[in-house]
Amino acid sequence: MDVTLSLTGRQAAALQAHLFPGDGREAAAIALCGRRAGKRHRLLLRKLVLIPHDACEPRTATTVAWPTDLIIPELTEADRRGWSVVKFHSHPGGYNAFSEQDDSSDSLLFPAIAGWIDADVPHASVVMLPDGAMFGRLVDAEGQFTPIETITVVGERLNIWRHDEVTGIGVLTPSAPFAKRHAQAFGERTTRALGHLSVAVVGCSGTGSIVIEQLVRLGVRRLVIIDPDVVKNHNLNRILNTTMADVLAKRPKVEVLHDRIVEVGLGTEVLPLACNLFDGDAVRSVADCDIVFGCVDSAEGRFLMNRIAAFYLMPYFDVGVALDADDQGEITQVCGYLHYVQPDLSSLVSRGAVAMEDVRAEGERRRNPEHYAHLRRAGYINNVDEDRPAVISVNTVFSGLIVNEMLARLHDFRDERGDLYATVGFSLSQMMLYPEPETGLPCPIFAKHVGRGDTALLMDLPELSVGGGG
Ligand SMILES: [Zn+2]
Repeated sequence: MDVTLSLTGRQAAALQAHLFPGDGREAAAIALCGRRAGKRHRLLLRKLVLIPHDACEPRTATTVAWPTDLIIPELTEADRRGWSVVKFHSHPGGYNAFSEQDDSSDSLLFPAIAGWIDADVPHASVVMLPDGAMFGRLVDAEGQFTPIETITVVGERLNIWRHDEVTGIGVLTPSAPFAKRHAQAFGERTTRALGHLSVAVVGCSGTGSIVIEQLVRLGVRRLVIIDPDVVKNHNLNRILNTTMADVLAKRPKVEVLHDRIVEVGLGTEVLPLACNLFDGDAVRSVADCDIVFGCVDSAEGRFLMNRIAAFYLMPYFDVGVALDADDQGEITQVCGYLHYVQPDLSSLVSRGAVAMEDVRAEGERRRNPEHYAHLRRAGYINNVDEDRPAVISVNTVFSGLIVNEMLARLHDFRDERGDLYATVGFSLSQMMLYPEPETGLPCPIFAKHVGRGDTALLMDLPELSVGGGG
């Protein structure tokens, strides 16, 4: 099974500052990690513990060691919570392989860790190089090594360190012929990264279907597409690849898109889920991916995706379109927004893009439609449900912008730092872009969940656990 490790940008920056103090000598840290044990085994950094430099003995340009006693409180905590342990150390000289020294110290440390922690969970050893690149391996109780396929840093940039690229071990897959021109624009490394990505797209309508089309053509390896609805006549104005025959056959949107993606023939794996995101299996399938795209207009759905992003350390790209018209059919405003959300920084809630009262109102409507209708008639709830105007050309602009946002995070082609563009509003009425920077402030609602991964009660939400499997 593939194993991956994810860190946030803040975690990786703290780690790099500690591992490279500037004296040319190695340094060490350990991390406690939550997990997503699904289609892949994803290790998710939860808690970073820096080993003080003066507690290490020896500490030279080529070796670092510390007394195991130093980490007993962390091992005890990992045992209690069933967390994985990851050891990090630096190679200040840039040596991109595990040394014999590393082999012997890992063969001593990890059986001890496995002896301390009862849960049958993987533990790993990771090396960071001076440029921040990382490679690593699982070390089992017998001291056997298995490479970690990718190490991802979800920060202002989306850094994906593949084991084969960083260590030069193994055969790198060349870009597929259809992706050659992407490589001309973004380089082989980005094109190869796309070819290994798993992406979840939640919402397969006006923006979602256009996002999906682009991800397929960009050569993304695997897509999880989620939408509960069937194709209706009034969708034909904007959902790519849907037809009147689909309307008559009442086919689910995800099924139509799935068939179309397979027909395109680029080898994309697709998991279509014709359900609401408020479903244990849907949440787990999103959490198996590397990236989530939000293409829904519900506050509740966007709240849930932000929560998944925190629990499962995922980058979250959100797109929304607001096309307002008065009752004479006269357009008053054409605008939209893009959000890039990092798991441990500002959220859609702390940015004011999602209001908790809307999240609650929509939850009430979903769980208890009759009571909701009553509250609405009685004026307790403002409308969250009006049919809004929708136009494919407007959706296409914003769907293109959000996919370009992903590319900009993978391959830094902008003149300015990505943190200047946490939110971008775009008014087509004014032909203006309105970027807003990342505040750098963790959202109090989500930050406490960063890296928790799978929990006994999925994301602490009882309703997701009803009838769910592993
Ligand atoms: Zn080493």
